[in-house]
Amino acid sequence: MKSESGNLKEALFWKKAEDNKTQCYLCSHRCLIAEGKVGFCAVRKNIGGKLYSLNYYKVCSANIDPIEKKPLYHFQPGSKSFSIAAEGCNFRCEFCQNWQISQAAVNEGRIDGEPVTPQQLVDSAVHSGCKSIAYTYTEPTIFMELCADTGRLAKQKGLANVFVSNGYQTEEAVDFAKDWLDGINIDLKAFNEKYYHRLCKAKLQPVLDTIEYIAKHTNIWMEITTLLLPGENDSQDELKKLADFLVTKAGPDVPWHISRFFPQYKYLDSEPTPMESLNRAYEIGKAAGLHYVYMGNVPSAEGERTCCHKCNRLLIDRVGYRIVSNVIKNGCCPDCSEKIPGFQL
Ligand code: SF4
Repeated sequence: MKSESGNLKEALFWKKAEDNKTQCYLCSHRCLIAEGKVGFCAVRKNIGGKLYSLNYYKVCSANIDPIEKKPLYHFQPGSKSFSIAAEGCNFRCEFCQNWQISQAAVNEGRIDGEPVTPQQLVDSAVHSGCKSIAYTYTEPTIFMELCADTGRLAKQKGLANVFVSNGYQTEEAVDFAKDWLDGINIDLKAFNEKYYHRLCKAKLQPVLDTIEYIAKHTNIWMEITTLLLPGENDSQDELKKLADFLVTKAGPDVPWHISRFFPQYKYLDSEPTPMESLNRAYEIGKAAGLHYVYMGNVPSAEGERTCCHKCNRLLIDRVGYRIVSNVIKNGCCPDCSEKIPGFQL
């Protein structure tokens, strides 16, 4: 008879604990998991005192996206990114736009997907002319085993790797990934603990720690996204604190994407974010000293453009995810020669 673990991948980042429990330290929940149980993400299971990944052989999405969609605006601009996901998440965001795949394991105990190998993923990325592989749509941390195996192969083929993440990985996980991970967009969803606790069933502080750690201890290119929920995280005071944190701990060159909210999933009794709120956030970010502030989910000429932070020359003009023009030369502004921060600009 085949054992339950027969076709599963043993997990990374766990250790044995008392009573045959396993302690997972892939993300900051640091779940202590009893035999036969799964962690908070519902995709890592203790079987016979060992921890297994339940979603390694289950790729649930694979698409070719513009890198701007992640969003990453200072990372191989204008390139295509082979974008994949496996089901599960370590957050429970009530406004999740991908809840059908992020929450199925939690809500229905179901993990759908195809057994696509890392080699097949890399081959597909190369053949489709992508310059990177993006681990996205759900939280990549909770399919780290697949990311690592794919990411290392991708590097050998000259591809970059990017995460679109909630920033809840442990320092150990960041250290593990930093040799093959080139870029990351971290959702800094709010700057108050109550928001994270009530709407995401997580904590703010570990996300702040990850942002600071990546900025100070790795070469991973990082951009930040904040979805503005009306009345929840868009006050003047909170956004000022958030922007000040980014300038102080991640540096003024970290791009900040402020994004417009539209009702989703369980969070339906709200209006879309008013434009005044987005405009105010934009001004707050600039006033705090951030060099690159962008607006997402909303057509806005100014909010989609990259201008030199020194001389204000228009460098990259965008309409949505499309690049209209890009005059960056060897990573520098063509007018004042200032180096523009980013990855392979
Ligand atoms: S990855 Fe999953 S099992 Fe591991 S600590 Fe996070 S939520 Fe728990």
